[in-house]
Amino acid sequence: MIPPVIISPNFYQVSLPEVNVFINKTKAGLILIDTGPPGSKEAIFQAIRIIGSDPKDIRHIIVTHAHYDHSGSLADILQDVNATVYMHPAEAELIQKGIAHRFKSKKANRLLCAITMRSAIKLPHLNVKPVKNITAAKHRQWIPDATGLQVIYAPGHCKGQIALFSPENGGIILTADSAENISHLKLATKYNNLHMCLVTIKRISMMDFRVALFSHGRPILHAASDYFKSAFGFD
Ligand SMILES: [Zn+2]
Repeated sequence: MIPPVIISPNFYQVSLPEVNVFINKTKAGLILIDTGPPGSKEAIFQAIRIIGSDPKDIRHIIVTHAHYDHSGSLADILQDVNATVYMHPAEAELIQKGIAHRFKSKKANRLLCAITMRSAIKLPHLNVKPVKNITAAKHRQWIPDATGLQVIYAPGHCKGQIALFSPENGGIILTADSAENISHLKLATKYNNLHMCLVTIKRISMMDFRVALFSHGRPILHAASDYFKSAFGFD
């Protein structure tokens, strides 16, 4: 596997084949941010050992949204780890049913819900193993015990996505899928509500941070909020 990237003394990016997940080391234990697609548990645990920690030290798991590449290994990880799971309620209600996607059409959502309830066969990208016990993460809330991780409501890509802000190291914003930086910085190409994507990217761009992290793409390690302001036209 690719070794974890050190973002700051307490913050690491683990690049899985499809997505990046993040580890925040705190005095109270580890915070895992996102869990990768199904089958990612061992790669994440290996990364945690590489940075000198024990997977059993995971105290909190924050899942930025329900999409399978972010939530897919949550249930498997919880088999080995005693952690509090945080999600926005709009995404938690999907994962509690084992659903990883919300369509724009209510009819399609009802159909997916019916199939999920009745069929033992899991649909790739649409179903994940359900997790019932999820704590609500709301806008501006600070994650308890963390050295400083604040929830930033970031809808648009999906209804209940959250981004995260840490004041550490001059400010770190973890954008989830609000933006991506694969070839260049831009809005994530898939979205549920384009208007809300714009509201979210403005909300993030107006913040002050030095480092930006993305679920998809490379980190920006210096002057990141200036870069956001000029890239998205808020300067
Ligand atoms: Zn997504």
